[in-house]
Amino acid sequence: MYLSQLFLNNFRNYSEEYLQFNPNLNLIIGDNAQGKTNLLEAIYLLGTGNSHRTNVNSELVNWEENGFYLKGELIKETQNYKLEIKMQGRSKEIRVNNNKLEKNSDLLGYLNIIIFSPEDLELVKGSPSRRRKFLNLELSQIQPYYKHTLKEYDQVVKQRNQLLKKIRDANAPQEMLEVWDQQLVDLGTKVIVKRLEALEKLKVLARLMQRKLTNGAESLKLQYDSKLNIDGDSSKEEIKTEFSSYIQRKRKKEIERGVTTVGPHRDDISLVVNDVDVRKYGSQGQQRTTALALKLSELEFMKSEIGEYPVLLLDDVFSELDNKRSNYLLETIKNKIQTFITNTNLKRLKELRQNHNIYRIKKGSV
Ligand code: ATP
Ligand code: MG
Repeated sequence: MYLSQLFLNNFRNYSEEYLQFNPNLNLIIGDNAQGKTNLLEAIYLLGTGNSHRTNVNSELVNWEENGFYLKGELIKETQNYKLEIKMQGRSKEIRVNNNKLEKNSDLLGYLNIIIFSPEDLELVKGSPSRRRKFLNLELSQIQPYYKHTLKEYDQVVKQRNQLLKKIRDANAPQEMLEVWDQQLVDLGTKVIVKRLEALEKLKVLARLMQRKLTNGAESLKLQYDSKLNIDGDSSKEEIKTEFSSYIQRKRKKEIERGVTTVGPHRDDISLVVNDVDVRKYGSQGQQRTTALALKLSELEFMKSEIGEYPVLLLDDVFSELDNKRSNYLLETIKNKIQTFITNTNLKRLKELRQNHNIYRIKKGSV
């Protein structure tokens, strides 16, 4: 799949811009603070409905205006799509082929996106929520079922937490928990099963990537990291039983604290390089390689699940990677994945022997 055109109106520091893209490589070149990341952000928004760097929609609107409009033309193997996002005041409206979406999250699954930027180091060394988000967004982009189940699950956790607090304060009887326990376990297990399935595949890919990126010196092991005693071989029934019995055992503690202490909303992915937990003890270089290996695995995973490569956004990554890793990255994407690369200059990128377009950005103009 690839994005063939993009129209921006009053988005960040752009006032009006119409761009046509290369199906292979697009180089976005400019000094600092000119609008390179803003352009990637617009593309990311057309894929996911949200920004990758802010939850505040109003920040995306040009300071002098009170709304923005984005339009993209997406070319996929079987069909083309017109994607539109319009923000006016506080309301955001999303259309696919002129049809307004009921829920903004329904946009996921048309334009699949993977973004890699220096902040992705956090994917490795940041809190578990970063890694959960990685899995959730990846799975939500390829499986609407996952996205819906996760949403329901999150709702159940919220309501169950409220009830736990009420029980603690003697405002509700403990028996009321039963029905919520049931839902928590049912939905939670569905989420976990999907994650475990994905991880089984990602695991193999990530090990291969890390090995290639380090000439065989580093071996990366991914594992689902949960308080529940489960792994990739656990059956759905085993997970359910384990989940149920865990919350039974923790009943008193959960009521005391007023929160649900176990389940997919608390799980993590453990990342071990040569027997060392790279989340905590990895060197910067190891962490960077691991982040890259995870992203490249995501790329291949998506391809294997949906039959097409997603669009790849590389924000400023070449300043952080050494030659060997940069070359490997470029070799991997060559001529098969539409890629947008931002950089302050063309130096290293000129060696790329592939079909590309260059866009020079200055103060929100191309
Ligand atoms: P760097 O190389 O430093 O990463 P960049 O080219 O990626 O720079 P961007 O983050 O794309 O820079 O753009 C930042 C510019 O956009 C800044 O000058 C900022 O002030 C401006 N900007 C950000 N949000 C808005 C907005 N809502 N309206 C107008 N201008 C904005
Ligand atoms: Mg930038």
